[in-house]
Amino acid sequence: MEKREELYAGKAKSVYRTDDPDRFVMVFRDDTSAFDGEKKEQLNRKGMVNNKFNAFIMNKLEQAGVPTHFEGLLSDTDSLVKKLDMIPVECVVRNVSAGSLCRRLGVEEGQDLNPPTYELFLKNDALHDPMVNESLAVTFGWAKEDELARMKELTYKVNSVLKTLFEEAGMLLVDYKLEFGRSNDTIVLGDEFSPDGCRIWDMETRKKMDKDRFRQGLGEVIETYEEVGRRLGINFD
Ligand code: ADP
Ligand code: UDP
Repeated sequence: MEKREELYAGKAKSVYRTDDPDRFVMVFRDDTSAFDGEKKEQLNRKGMVNNKFNAFIMNKLEQAGVPTHFEGLLSDTDSLVKKLDMIPVECVVRNVSAGSLCRRLGVEEGQDLNPPTYELFLKNDALHDPMVNESLAVTFGWAKEDELARMKELTYKVNSVLKTLFEEAGMLLVDYKLEFGRSNDTIVLGDEFSPDGCRIWDMETRKKMDKDRFRQGLGEVIETYEEVGRRLGINFD
């Protein structure tokens, strides 16, 4: 598949057109950012680790019946994906309290959330991704009611698949963010699933094994991402 011009460079990935109008190449860069781009660093090997991590998870989700944009690995850092008309709403599920939930509601970190919570955020860096709801999304035309219902259904389905996958490898899937898009009127999971967009804790020690290591300056960021991957059976060589 021929990589043509760069269409979009985000904070961590770039999207390229290909010779097929329905397919893009997604390039995972080593760039790492947090706090709406305020903290930025290049982390050696991150692009490769997240690309392979994402490929593994997307394959698992496809096998479980979640439609995803992932079509295959092209290189260490590049993946072929279906072109999606992205919906600018991020879907977040939480199994354990952490992050913005604790800041917003004053709840303690580490509480089991039963049933898991589901939140929507508008994807807008300038506004710091404000929390929104389905009514706002429909009124402002970000997504239709049936699309939002499908996104919620798929986001919970992802939870049932991945929570078990991580638990079996001795880890807690604390929370995660998904992005969806449209492909021929079907809602499809897009973007990525990697330790950059979720929280993962060791089940015994509760050691943070995700992007909080970067956000909180805990060190050994990529080494820990690789440890998560290895526990899941991913080969990074
Ligand atoms: P950000 O835009 O938040 O800085 P990234 O650096 O991860 O994020 O950039 C990747 C961009 O590509 C995101 O805006 C994401 O919504 C978009 N994207 C992901 N998958 C697809 C796809 N299949 N088709 C079109 N755009 C996509
Ligand atoms: N998340 C993300 N991108 C965003 C916002 C959140 O990947 O723009 C992920 C984040 O890594 C965490 C989950 O979504 O796994 C919930 O994030 P939260 O609302 O707690 O915000 P944060 O504490 O990351 O600011």
